[in-house]
This record gives sequence, structure tokens and C-alpha cells, in this order.
Amino acid sequence: MTFKQLNLSPALLNALPKSIIKPTDIQLLAIPDALAGQDILALAQTGSGKTLAFGLPVLQQIEQSIGKSTDKKNVQALVIVPTRELAQQVSEAFIQIATPLNINVAMLCGGVSQALQEQQINDGAQIIVATPGRLLDLLKQELLNTSEIKTLVLDEADRLLDMGFWPDIERIVTFLPAKLSNEPSASLAFPLETGKPRQTLLFSATLAPKLERLAHRLLTNPKRIEAHVANSVVSTVEEQLYLVNKGSKAKALQWLLTTNKWSQALVFISARDSADSFAKKLKKAGFNVAALHGEKDQKERQQTLQDFHNNKVNILIATDVLARGIDIDSLPVVINLDLPANAPVYVHRVGRTARAGNNGLAISLVSHGETKELEAIRELTNRALELKTLEEFPVTDKPASAESKRPPRDKKANRRTAKKKKSGGFKKPS
Ligand code: AMP
Repeated sequence: MTFKQLNLSPALLNALPKSIIKPTDIQLLAIPDALAGQDILALAQTGSGKTLAFGLPVLQQIEQSIGKSTDKKNVQALVIVPTRELAQQVSEAFIQIATPLNINVAMLCGGVSQALQEQQINDGAQIIVATPGRLLDLLKQELLNTSEIKTLVLDEADRLLDMGFWPDIERIVTFLPAKLSNEPSASLAFPLETGKPRQTLLFSATLAPKLERLAHRLLTNPKRIEAHVANSVVSTVEEQLYLVNKGSKAKALQWLLTTNKWSQALVFISARDSADSFAKKLKKAGFNVAALHGEKDQKERQQTLQDFHNNKVNILIATDVLARGIDIDSLPVVINLDLPANAPVYVHRVGRTARAGNNGLAISLVSHGETKELEAIRELTNRALELKTLEEFPVTDKPASAESKRPPRDKKANRRTAKKKKSGGFKKPS
């Protein structure tokens, strides 16, 4: 199936970047329903092409309304994302296609001057990509005309919920034209005072019951789309988990980087202090490394992301808040220096590699103290995720509890192990 067969307009087809040739699964599934005006609840992994799955229908609807009654200056689509970095990435994806179509995109995020953003709004942006806090501020100050908004997109909704943004989202929605609904539950939250239809497209990589419940308050008879199995890791990622002493992680990381000579590596760690200290150690050892965390100012964060993107930095040690802004198709490896306390975050971290159909590797260094996190990830992803050891780093720490309690091996894990035996891979458990 081609983009043309998805009924995209000739102007939009012409504006597509040359690298975008064939629709991805989520695009095939979401674009026809979104173009038909349907509300959508989509489960889509990062790296699956989800931005264009909602981006192309939004652009087409605006492109086709140009020249009609709509005031070109007014906002017609609002895309809410959890982090500034993701806002940057999503706006860039939009701008690339919107510019030749004469459609303006504005990005509204905290950490940058509001005056500049007001200017962008006044210049006439039909698409706004925003993080919840700044958007709500602007709405409360009545600086944004929302009367023409036809589409609301919630991108990475699970992350919006995890980061505590849901009350802001519900408040933001009260500023938008209401959706058409006969459902009493929907009208409870959003009275139909204007009668204008609003389409809501919600995209999420994971779907916990709480999110599903909240999502349904915003959506009207949504079409449920799943481009992958819920909470799963894309099949092109090979996952390797190694048990190491807590105190050996820095050395093990250094050894992995030296032995494998990856062109680039994205290293995750939960605490920002540790991100800095690990980066320092690697720098001292001669690696081209940078740390990225929420404590750095916005300018520095953007510069670091750009340097990693342009391959000026080879190793990036990042905390989770910023992970979503990292979109590098050919990133060969993601390394977890610790397991995240929240299991869906593991799926997101791992989703930074193997993007747009490429193969990728995700390595996790796990200490005995992380048994609970590992069990939660195994349960969420329904995978055995067998722990191995590295011969170079024998484990001498004692387990706090019965760590060896492993779930039965799944078929996929058996296949992976068989493949690893054939290809050599890392040394076998000692
Ligand atoms: P996303 O999941 O939206 O973050 O997209 C991940 C990456 O896939 C981005 O770099 C996109 O430019 C790329 N991409 C999106 N759609 C396609 C497509 N149909 N063909 C090839 N690459 C794509």
C-alpha cells in the first residue's frame, strides 16, 4: 500500500520527504480513520512512525481548508506532548511538510520567552505543538484563539499521565470547542456548548487501565488501533540483560563501549547526579560523551541533543525525562545503567533503538537490588528477559532476596538465546 492509496492529496504527497516512501503499519491503520474524522485511540511504539500517522491527516485537513472560510490565522490543530524535546521533534516533523504547503507551525513550551511565542501565535499558526504547562498559561491569559480548533492530538499519552500532566490536559480541553457526543460520560467532562465537532487522536506506547479510563473521557466512540502488541518491545530490538555488582557498573559500561566500538550509544540512568558522574568517568577515559538531564538549562539541552543527533557526541548519558526527544534512526544501542522504577519506561527507553524498521540492541546492567524492577518489566512485556553474567565482571554481591526466582522461559527468549549462541555475542554466563 502506498501513501497515494491512503487518499493523501497530491500537494501533501509532493511535500513528503524523499525518505518517506511506504507507510508504516501505524500509518496504514490510522490515516484512513483520522482522515474520515474518527476519534482514535492508538497504541503505537516510539519509532513506529506515529508522528506522521497523526501528522499527515492533520496537515491534509488544514491544506484542504485553505482558501475556504477558515481564517488562516487561527489555530486548527493542537498537539500536546509531554516534554520540550519531544515538542521540538514533533514540530520539526510537521514543519518539514507544512512549509511547502504554506501552513505555519508554532511550538509552545516552557523555558523559552513567552513573548516570542505570542509573536508566533499572532503571526498565524494553524498547528500548535505544545507542552501542557505553557499552553495552559497562554490559554488562561486568553492569548490563544481556540475557536477554530478541529483536531486535538495527545502524543505519548502514557508519559503525559506519568508526568502528572493529566489535570492540565483536562483543564486545557475545557478551552477547546466541544466534541459532538451522545455519551453521557463525555458530556460530563465537556459540555456541548458550541456544538462544533472536535476530533481527538490519542497516541500512547503503553495503555494501563487508568490511562484507558481517562482517555475515554476525552474520546468519542474512538477507533482502537494497535500497531503492535500492548506494552511490547519492537521485534527488531535484541535485549540483553547482565547481572553485575552495583559497584562494577561504570567499569562494565566502559568495557562494553570499548569492546563493541558502536558508532553511538545512548545510556540511560535514573538519577541526574549519577548521569553527570558517569559522564565524567567516561570523559576521563577518553570517550566523547555528554550528559543530558532536566537540571541543565534549555539551551544546553537543545545543543547536546543536536550534537548527539549530528554525531558530534558519541555517547549520551540521559535521564528519562529527555529520552523522548531522541530520534535517531540508526542508533545502534541503548544501554540501561539501571532499570527504571516504572516498567513502561523500560519499553520507552528500549524504543530509542531499532527505529523506523532498523535493528537495534538494548543492554541492561542489572544489580541484585533491582529484582523488583526486573520482575515488573518481565510481567509488563510478558517476556522471560533472562539475566546473564559477563565473564569479565563476576558477581560477588549477595542477592537481597531469592533473585533466582525466574519466570518460565518464553519461546522468543529461547530463539534469542539460540541466535546468540550461533553468533557468539557476549561471553556466556560464568
Ligand atoms: P516516530 O515514531 O514518529 O517518532 O518516527 C520515527 C522515525 O521514522 C522518524 O525519523 C521518521 O522520520 C521516520 N518515519 C516515519 N514514517 C516513515 C515512513 N513511512 N518511512 C520511513 N521512515 C519513516
